[in-house]
Amino acid sequence: MILDSLFFMLYFSTNKKAPIASLQEVVVKGLAPDRGLYMPEKTAQLPQSFFDEIGNSGLQEISKTVAAAFFGDDIPKEKLEAIVTGALNFEIPLRKVEEGIYALELFHGPTFAFKDVGARFMARMLSHFVREGQEEVNVLVATSGDTGSAVANGFLGVEGIKVFVLYPSGKVSDMQEAQFATLGQNITALEVDGTFDDCQALVKSAFMDEGLNVRLNLTSANSINVARFLPQSFYYFWAYAQLIRQGRAGKTVFSVPSGNLGNLTAGLFAKRMGLPVDRFIAANNRNDVFREYLQTGKYIPRASVQTVANAMDVGDPSNFARILDLYGHSHEAIVRDISSYRYRDEEIRAAINNVYLQSGYLLDPHGACAYLALKEGKKPDETGIFLATAHPAKFGKTVEASIGNPVQIPDALAAFMQHKKQSLPLPNDFDLFKKKLIERS
Ligand SMILES: *Cc1c(COP(=O)(O)O)cnc(C)c1O
Repeated sequence: MILDSLFFMLYFSTNKKAPIASLQEVVVKGLAPDRGLYMPEKTAQLPQSFFDEIGNSGLQEISKTVAAAFFGDDIPKEKLEAIVTGALNFEIPLRKVEEGIYALELFHGPTFAFKDVGARFMARMLSHFVREGQEEVNVLVATSGDTGSAVANGFLGVEGIKVFVLYPSGKVSDMQEAQFATLGQNITALEVDGTFDDCQALVKSAFMDEGLNVRLNLTSANSINVARFLPQSFYYFWAYAQLIRQGRAGKTVFSVPSGNLGNLTAGLFAKRMGLPVDRFIAANNRNDVFREYLQTGKYIPRASVQTVANAMDVGDPSNFARILDLYGHSHEAIVRDISSYRYRDEEIRAAINNVYLQSGYLLDPHGACAYLALKEGKKPDETGIFLATAHPAKFGKTVEASIGNPVQIPDALAAFMQHKKQSLPLPNDFDLFKKKLIERS
């Protein structure tokens, strides 16, 4: 047991067929070799003194303490603190929407969506490990819009890392394309003549090509990566700190708009670390395999359908494996902590309009889904926080159609549109993709 504290934090795979791995290995590799997701072997407990002081602490200070609990044995203190302050250099305000209901606004980063937090943290952590002696790393992402922008901007200019964003030509909005296809530097945008599924298949084939992997050190930057999903636990503590400041500590419930379940899983880790939150609500759109699992105990993945909250259009959420593992595969234990509701597009649009009329607060479709679930699931004695994951202007078309008014676009978001598109066209062909990768890496 004494030895325990002398060693680094180790990570195991949810499939239990891969060797345990160091933080450096799990961050560079992403997925475990047995295709499982990496989990930390222990969840550090934060001391009572941390919670006694939390109401007087800021976002960065809180995040440094939580980060040290997970990564403190693996990265020198000063370096880890620099990663935290570099990644979380924007506000995450908690706003009261109505009595007992608060929005945690996660969309004040460079691409106006919550994935900025994880992407910026991961970029800095990966860069640290690359400089520790690893060769250059090449990150591949297939995107239908939002992941590409967060990852490309998070990794922009980061030393030792090149990023390739594959996206379906003509199938992302101009605003989304402008956010990842105009950047240059270490970011290459590949405009694929095909669908999002074709992009994903090209990326998958690249990961399966062993020679290419060895040559280019390929990795992915989606929420299967420990360095992207764990930092998302920081802001749950910060939300709680802000509640305390507002004199609202008591029974707390978080409502999380869910797709791949990375954000929710990070919240579950926060609870495991001692955050006094009572329970969670997973908000689903019509892609509700997780809600079905909670209701029936059976997990039946299926193809996703398109909705107005399209970042939640996931039919087989990758982080489900982590939730099962965290609760020892006990359905009973999982439903004690998590409930779920689902909403159709019409309900999401109506919520955007109703909340806007009643309180002047403008929701995006993802936040609106989480608001609805909180409204439906919250008990009168609970304080509810829903995660507002995107700026309403990012989904301006849906929001404008819902409220019948134009939505103001923040200058920094509009600024992306001023830059010149620099993407390279790519036929849907693996050999050509491979050639391009080798040329540009
Ligand atoms: C990615 C995303 C989600 C879903 O988050 P998961 O961690 O995949 O569950 C929700 N809202 C927005 C705006 C997103 O971009």
